[in-house]
Amino acid sequence: MAQYIVMLGPPGVGKGTQAKILAEKTGLVHVSSGDLFRENIKNQTELGLLAQSYMNKGELVPDDVTIGMVRERVSRADCKVGAILDGFPRTPVQADALKTMLAEFGADVDVVPFVTATEQVLVDRLSGRWTCRAEGHAYHEKHNPPKQPGVCDIDGSELYQRDDDKAETVKRRIQVYFEQTSPLIEYYKNAGKLIEIDGSQQIDQVSEALLAAVQK
Ligand code: ADP
Ligand code: ADP
Repeated sequence: MAQYIVMLGPPGVGKGTQAKILAEKTGLVHVSSGDLFRENIKNQTELGLLAQSYMNKGELVPDDVTIGMVRERVSRADCKVGAILDGFPRTPVQADALKTMLAEFGADVDVVPFVTATEQVLVDRLSGRWTCRAEGHAYHEKHNPPKQPGVCDIDGSELYQRDDDKAETVKRRIQVYFEQTSPLIEYYKNAGKLIEIDGSQQIDQVSEALLAAVQK
């Protein structure tokens, strides 16, 4: 049976880090909307140029553009066994669209791990985040440093600090999360799919809790 997992939680809580670990453990594909946008920006596609203007300000990219991009990715053959969605959906409109697209393959969202941490933890994590150019692997200068500064342990590519990880944009992204994404907590709770995970623990402890939650 295909399994579709939605990683829900504020920016910087560790969704990407955990989605990558879970993908390795389960064999499911990791689909990150942020990574898809950044790939489009790198390739200077029309979609990338549009998305960039919103991302730089810490605002959400409009729903129709985002939904179209994720629909294309989730429709590919490798997602037929399921996927770990990271950063999507971020609005109730996107959540409805996800339900519709999965229903087309006779599937539904199975479980929604909701990863939490205090705002202070989020700001600390985002301000120290270094991201790999090739695959978006995330490091933290204090909590999860690479073996060699500036170089990805996994693929050897260069690490950089995302433009939207600067203090001012981080503040706005967290605010946008509370205004536009947090209604999804109730949305998935009402659907009986939400499982809360304490994201303030160490990376391997969060991974353990997450694996237990999705295997339930
Ligand atoms: P998100 O995808 O939710 O924005 P990331 O996975 O990119 O979050 O993690 C944000 C930052 O926090 C990265 O620098 C990452 O290395 C670090 N991080 C992730 N999980 C933990 C954790 N459990 N403890 C400490 N730092 C973490
Ligand atoms: P984070 O590390 O904060 O979880 P992401 O990499 O998921 O960040 O997203 C970076 C930016 O990309 C967001 O601030 C937003 O501008 C845009 N974005 C990503 N996913 C979505 C989405 N589902 N809907 C709208 N905008 C999105």
